[in-house]
Amino acid sequence: MAAEGTEFRVNANVGGPAGEATSVGVDELREEFDAVVLAGGATQWRDLPVPGRELDGIYQAMEYLPPANRVQMGDLAQPPISAEGKHVIIIGGGDTGADCLGTAHRQGAASVHQFEIMPRPPDTRSERTPWPTFPLVYKVTSAHEEGGERLYSVNTTHFSGVDGVVKKLHGNQVESSVLNGRPTFEPVPGSEFELDADLVLLAMGFTGPEQGGLLNDLGVGLDARGNVARDDAWRTSVEGVFSCGDMGRGQSLIVWAIAEGRACAASVDRALMGDTLLPSPVAPTDRPLG
Ligand SMILES: Cc1cc2nc3c(=O)[nH]c(=O)nc-3n(C[C@H](O)[C@H](O)[C@H](O)COP(=O)(O)OP(=O)(O)OC[C@H]3O[C@@H](n4cnc5c(N)ncnc54)[C@H](O)[C@@H]3O)c2cc1C
Repeated sequence: MAAEGTEFRVNANVGGPAGEATSVGVDELREEFDAVVLAGGATQWRDLPVPGRELDGIYQAMEYLPPANRVQMGDLAQPPISAEGKHVIIIGGGDTGADCLGTAHRQGAASVHQFEIMPRPPDTRSERTPWPTFPLVYKVTSAHEEGGERLYSVNTTHFSGVDGVVKKLHGNQVESSVLNGRPTFEPVPGSEFELDADLVLLAMGFTGPEQGGLLNDLGVGLDARGNVARDDAWRTSVEGVFSCGDMGRGQSLIVWAIAEGRACAASVDRALMGDTLLPSPVAPTDRPLG
């Protein structure tokens, strides 16, 4: 029997016939397989530790989105968290926030606001991001075309509620500047506001792979950002254990995960067979220009 925390989940997402996860201990995994590839993603979320965060009705995007997808797939009858008839506020102006926005509209939200603490990006590429670097521009995704209001340079100070359930978000406008290379945000005097909020979704980014459990038990080394460290052949610090995708790169994009997975497969093939014919489209240290 595996000790607590030493389990490797199999079928956690795809689901077996009964949709249940099975568990394999790390020792068993190592014994049975010559190579192990860690490709578990980077879904350790950022939180918002402000007063009122503990109220019901405030959830992480990743608590909200995956079950909503399962409803669409026919795996669940009802979403455990629904935006139907609710005033929804999404905190975080990125792609995860856009996914929440689209989902909330389709569930029949009464209103949807999306907050971003950074200023609104310019409509066109700025001089600081010349082609072919990635341009930081105002993006209107298909989800945004469906509605909702986007607010920039806003900070959430606290939540208030009734009977333990969130009812209002309190915030203010902020002025941003850069101090020692890091952004800082100063409240704009007199800009305090409150908004009705029955459902708040936190979509403020991810800090890396979920720590503990499997990573601990395998004893793989981490890099300075808390991602699984790997060498130029996708090998972690533990013999026979490789890593690719977000787990090594940090939260990124699907194209990188696909390219990394292919390159990692080539490396595993080479390690096991002595050589490989598989393509290796990227190196672990490759990054987009910018
Ligand atoms: C909400 C959201 C929206 C995004 N939108 C976009 C987008 O529009 N475009 C884009 O390019 N990218 C997007 N991304 C990023 C993209 O999803 C990732 O970069 C990509 O999926 C990473 O692939 P991966 O295989 O490394 O990890 P993942 O796709 O995260 O897959 C990891 C899998 O491993 C499973 N797992 C974790 N631990 C274990 C374990 N112990 N045992 C068994 N299984 C385990 C997880 O459940 C998961 O299924 C988005 C990410 C999020 C979170």
